[in-house]
Amino acid sequence: MNKTLLSSYIKDVANFPKPGIIFKDISPLLASQVARKSMTQKLIENFKNKDIDVVVGIESRGFLFGMLMADALNARFVMMRKPGKLPGEIMSKEYDLEYGKDALEVQKGCIQQSNKVLIHDDVLATGGTAAAASSLIKQTGAQVTGYSFIIELDFLNGRKLLHNSIVSSVLNY
Ligand code: AMP
Repeated sequence: MNKTLLSSYIKDVANFPKPGIIFKDISPLLASQVARKSMTQKLIENFKNKDIDVVVGIESRGFLFGMLMADALNARFVMMRKPGKLPGEIMSKEYDLEYGKDALEVQKGCIQQSNKVLIHDDVLATGGTAAAASSLIKQTGAQVTGYSFIIELDFLNGRKLLHNSIVSSVLNY
């Protein structure tokens, strides 16, 4: 499936969740077995020969393709979640939002120092979320080999916050 066809599985929803935002809805992509399979192959394309040990999916839409990518790369899958969702000992990283702060968490011990990590989320917008994910992975001592997104909003320049790794996105807007 080429990128033009794949992009027809992303639905633009104007003024959601607030005025002025064009929300990229991946629901049609999730619904199609053929489109899912094609998207998964494209998401891992630049990482097939990179010995990825762990795919980290960012809550919550990053979980969906993150698992499929981990299967395709024979890698482990680790959830990176919002505060208070993961049991046991956790590591945490705060980051700034437009208004206020948020944080991301992973369980201690699920990423080893020697691991090569691929970070996945559905959309790269301002890059704040992915940058926080990256610094949390680095706290574990592991290496962030790269990032793979379904969608990149080029005009927000999010990739400027992501240094020294491969930044890959399937669809650019
Ligand atoms: P950011 O930290 O600004 O790069 O925002 C990335 C996070 O916000 C991702 O987890 C996305 O799921 C979500 N997000 C940001 N902008 C959009 C958008 N236009 N459509 C859908 N999700 C978005």
